[in-house]
Amino acid sequence: MELNNLTISKLRQKLADGELTSVELTRACLERIAATNGKVNSFITVCEKAALAAAEAADRRIAAGDAAPLTGIPLAVKDIFNTLDVRTTCGSKILDNYVSPYDATVIAKLREQGAVIVGKLNMDEFAMGSSNENSAAGPVLNPWDLQRVPGGSSGGSAAAVAARQVSATLGTDTGGSIRQPAAHCGVVGLKPTYGRVSRFGVIAYASSLDQVGPLAGNVEDCALLLGAVAGYDPADSTSVDTPVPDYLTTLKEGVKGKKIGLPKEYFIEGLDPDVKKSVAAAIATYQQLGAEIIEVSLPHTDYAVACYYLIATAEASSNLARYDGVRFGVRKDAGEGLVGMYRQTRAAGFGDEVKRRIMLGTYALSSGYYDAYYLKAQKVRTLIREDFFAAFEQVDLLLTPVAPTPAFKIGEKVNDPLQMYLSDIFTIPVNLAGTCGISLPCGMSHEGLPIGLQLLGKPFAEAEILQAAWAFENATDWGGKFPEL
Ligand code: GLN
Repeated sequence: MELNNLTISKLRQKLADGELTSVELTRACLERIAATNGKVNSFITVCEKAALAAAEAADRRIAAGDAAPLTGIPLAVKDIFNTLDVRTTCGSKILDNYVSPYDATVIAKLREQGAVIVGKLNMDEFAMGSSNENSAAGPVLNPWDLQRVPGGSSGGSAAAVAARQVSATLGTDTGGSIRQPAAHCGVVGLKPTYGRVSRFGVIAYASSLDQVGPLAGNVEDCALLLGAVAGYDPADSTSVDTPVPDYLTTLKEGVKGKKIGLPKEYFIEGLDPDVKKSVAAAIATYQQLGAEIIEVSLPHTDYAVACYYLIATAEASSNLARYDGVRFGVRKDAGEGLVGMYRQTRAAGFGDEVKRRIMLGTYALSSGYYDAYYLKAQKVRTLIREDFFAAFEQVDLLLTPVAPTPAFKIGEKVNDPLQMYLSDIFTIPVNLAGTCGISLPCGMSHEGLPIGLQLLGKPFAEAEILQAAWAFENATDWGGKFPEL
């Protein structure tokens, strides 16, 4: 299935030259999905008919000389984005068969461009998790090793790219959910600055942290997809009205003279030796490329995981209150009155991890504990944010590992939530700070598992981290590797 190994820019060229039609390409993707989804379980819903209809429309548009950058390109999206024509489950039983009456803004943007949405991708329920084991649709398996997790919560979005089911996907990142699965599956994933991409029509987990971003097989495709979805949206009051640069024009400018900071708190004991080695080699590569490496400090890093799990669960407990069996999705009612109906619906509809977080969040917000937990976490969040701004006075970007270890085994951490939560230790702080980060492949473990490198940028400096990522991808052989399946 050669077609599936091509980059979006190559596919665009072939579509433009008439060497290939979008219908042929879409069929190739659908065949690849049919052949591999039984192994990786990355798709919750495949929309074959709608995809082929969109591909036909794209072919007409290309023939008319009216193609946009994504016209005719098959893509898939995490099942957290509302879509008019197909159900949106958010990985939960409570939204089984929920069909939204409108498209999320990012979906509408993709459709306007003529992209072909082939389906909705598996994820941890309500985006809560780091392994994709918390999905009502069952776990996603890592295409590099089917015994291992793909990471989470956008596990389906990362695995679909690694398995070459589609060239690129959309995910969301609240505490690492794009970058950590991208690292575990050997693909590129970018979490934009809070406010860069509209979240209108994206099912909310923790609203002060959630962001939408692209995952792709290479940095350029990631830049292209980000450009297609970024921008101000009057329907999302947290989106920021600042111009979207053309990420492709500055992509190849290199890193000569850039100052790259290494936060010393991120190079800790307990870092897997293969991760340590690969990240050290990446640092050396940047030096050879002309960047200046400077040690910096983010002194409040130790508090980030605790702070995140108070704020994220508090916001989740409030956001998930809307699933009451009345307005959305599934209802369970054994005739025990209104409160009984709420209780039965939520008891049957939510999985264990979601229930755990609703309880933690409700507790942190309850009177008597609010000041001690929630308010304190907000103050710590400000300190963490200030750490980043102080570091960015000294350097242009920061370089860190994405995760402390390569992908772990399925089942390894399910009974130990704390261990699971700690797998996001390097990705969470940037969500608390609200700035941007990218994850890209930088090595392989001795067991043949991909290792990710994280680059963090100033607010709205997506162009800069993409540029640094591209420079690395082109100076090394780590990008664009995909497993046999
Ligand atoms: N793993 C983290 C969590 O479970 C982050 C999830 C995310 O970014 N959506 O909350």
